[in-house]
Amino acid sequence: MKAAVLSVRRLSVRFLMPGGRRVAAVTDAHFDVAAGECLALIGESGCGKSVLASALLGLLPANAQTAGEARLGDLDLLAADERTLARTVRGRRIGLIPQSPAAHLTPVRTIRSQLQETVAELTGIRGRAAVRTAAEAAAERAAFPSDHLDRHPHELSGGLAQRAATALALVGDAPLLLADEPTTGLDRDLVDHTVDELRRHVDTADRALLVITHDLAAAERIADRVAVMYAGRIVELTDAATFFGTPGPRHPYSRGLLQALPDRDFTPIPGMPPELGDLPDGCAFTARCHLSTAACAAVPQLTDTVACHHPYVPEDIRA
Ligand code: SF4
Repeated sequence: MKAAVLSVRRLSVRFLMPGGRRVAAVTDAHFDVAAGECLALIGESGCGKSVLASALLGLLPANAQTAGEARLGDLDLLAADERTLARTVRGRRIGLIPQSPAAHLTPVRTIRSQLQETVAELTGIRGRAAVRTAAEAAAERAAFPSDHLDRHPHELSGGLAQRAATALALVGDAPLLLADEPTTGLDRDLVDHTVDELRRHVDTADRALLVITHDLAAAERIADRVAVMYAGRIVELTDAATFFGTPGPRHPYSRGLLQALPDRDFTPIPGMPPELGDLPDGCAFTARCHLSTAACAAVPQLTDTVACHHPYVPEDIRA
């Protein structure tokens, strides 16, 4: 295993709401992402994945409180001030493919103009012709069509806006790429193209990639390891081949996610996730779990690869 580019240690995020209510958006997240590795953080919408990404980038709202550490080299992202994050981290040390690309793009400027500005700002490339060529190459890497470069964001479909945001994120060649739902709005062919491009970036440039997604097919295509998040906690962290292949995941929620896929059992997990502002005591999956016992009244900790009092073992799975 290569050295970790990102080391997250017991990262928690709480939102303080009017009336003193606290929302436990992320609790004790703990993982590394190494150079040349892709970690996919998966889970249903609202489980805390994007809040975790915002915490890493220092983009949480003012009512958020964080605890723990997130080290990018010698810098603790959670303790860094806004000036440091803006000048040395976002775009330069962490490239972001955002969840809402249309909102991330500047509405009054063309995609070409935004790409050229980013090339000039983040790379050593100088001279109009060279900057223009580099911007066009970045667009091509993200499969953004060259005949749309002089359009404004509002003239793009959701899929094209996503590809423009991907192109912008790749320009700075940051050591860590953080892709937050990078395949939103894309048809399956473009999903494959996008994740293959991201994977190529990891392999050829030896960069680290943290992909946040609810698209399990995309995760299977790109990831070396998988972290499953449920109700703000990572409940399973294992290698992708084991997770998607044999013997498969060990946590009941992870197994439910895979069994819900149309090309597997197509059987949804019963019930709904709990509200992050009203989590039950003990394991948050209890109400939906057919393996629940009295032991599950205590919160299970992540040991080995899974946080569960009664995880599947390979013998169960093969039986
Ligand atoms: S700890 Fe208990 S309730 Fe939670 S997933 Fe495991 S078996 Fe199910």
